[in-house]
Amino acid sequence: MPVPALQHRFADRLPELAVPWQARPAPAPTLAALNAPLAAELGLDPAWLATDAGLAFLTGTEPGPGARPVAQAYAGHQFGSYSPLLGDGRALLLGELTAPDGTLHDVHLKGSGLTPFSREGSDGLAALGPMLRELVVSEALHALGIPTTRALAVVATGGPVRRQRVLPGAVLVRVADSHLRVGTFQHAAALVHAGRAPEDLLTRLVAESLERHHPGHADDAAPALALLRAVVAAQAELVARWMLMGFVHGVMNTDNMTVSGQSIDFGPCAFLDGFDPDAVFSSIDRGGRYAYGAQPRIALWNLNRFAETLLPLLAPDPEAAVAAAEEALGGFAPAFDAAWQGGLAAKLGLARSADSDALAAELLRLLAQDRADWTASWANLSDLPLPADWLARWRALDPDPELARAANPLRVPRNRPLQAALDAAEDGDLADVERILAAVREPFTPRADASDLDVPPAPGAGGEAPFVTFCGT
Ligand code: AMP
Ligand code: MG
Repeated sequence: MPVPALQHRFADRLPELAVPWQARPAPAPTLAALNAPLAAELGLDPAWLATDAGLAFLTGTEPGPGARPVAQAYAGHQFGSYSPLLGDGRALLLGELTAPDGTLHDVHLKGSGLTPFSREGSDGLAALGPMLRELVVSEALHALGIPTTRALAVVATGGPVRRQRVLPGAVLVRVADSHLRVGTFQHAAALVHAGRAPEDLLTRLVAESLERHHPGHADDAAPALALLRAVVAAQAELVARWMLMGFVHGVMNTDNMTVSGQSIDFGPCAFLDGFDPDAVFSSIDRGGRYAYGAQPRIALWNLNRFAETLLPLLAPDPEAAVAAAEEALGGFAPAFDAAWQGGLAAKLGLARSADSDALAAELLRLLAQDRADWTASWANLSDLPLPADWLARWRALDPDPELARAANPLRVPRNRPLQAALDAAEDGDLADVERILAAVREPFTPRADASDLDVPPAPGAGGEAPFVTFCGT
């Protein structure tokens, strides 16, 4: 197979945000994981990807004659404070690939070495465990029907990565609808404001975002407003879908929010075991800014930052621009509510109504009170010891078991079994990661080999000590 033909669309259209760069060669690359279903979707031959030439492509040392890899510049609010220049400090956009179905995808590396955006003291590298974690979690989200960036491969570099201890290094090959982030707009807006980029940079960024992600609006008379509305709607839906599956992203900084509406950046994310609206897993989220139940509020906060970057394009008059932005941001709450309440109704096997809203609210209160396991409780609702009155009201609405089954997975990548599998992988044994990956790829199908993922951790089995995640650096 010839090396896949990568385009350099981002580099051409948004050169102010791109620094031509090359991946650091991996000393002795070997495939730790290859996503065969995704390779097929992209028209790539899994057997070729496993060859030396395939590994040279996947690690960016030979991305093909036409490729022009770049490190992307972006800014971002991290835990509420603004960093004007983050950018790809350990990542690289190899280029864009057109799949056989005509769709366009970014092929991007994470852990490919230092770039001009790497901060002092950082190494530009990634360890095998966190990269496998990103693969497993993103495949789980994908199988649950949640829009997400995905991992085409995890390549062990054969080199060491120094963290608290020395770990095996890896490169994640990430495939995304794009890597345009809220933070990309923040950086572009700041460059224009400072006179360091031409005025039309934001216009081009809006046009590129619409063309790639919201093509129905590409010819709108008011493109910036159309984009803002589309991103508000996409993010409202995304966060609702996360929460319906018990997902806590963990680091919803504005640089980790896409304009495509895909989930991105799986550092300290986790799935709920016992239901607690205030659940926090990340070691660095001490204030609970990114807690489970805070996610809609934070998404809207981030979208406010996004809207600010678009103000000059929304209307010539500043007051009119703010009014337009507020109107568009006002779409978040109804869009979130529709997706969340509609999704809860489906989990109950019901079409949404005032009755389903009331039943769901009552059930959430009961689940939270008992810290009942999120995934297992929903999957086994008829077996739960729920109040007779609640059950009678639910049954009177004639719930559809098929609808409920399709909305309630049997399994998610539970935190502790996944961590144990990643630890084994870093010690050289990938078998358990492979088992978990296969199991989370069919979350609605019973399996004999996934009881640790399907069944909540038993009390006394370490299950009551809070699970803590660490950023995947
Ligand atoms: P993230 O936590 O992945 O959203 O990354 C936030 C910022 O830190 C981005 O600019 C990353 O490129 C950068 N970063 C994270 N880990 C590393 C690393 N090991 N070396 C260099 N830069 C990094
Ligand atoms: Mg990030």
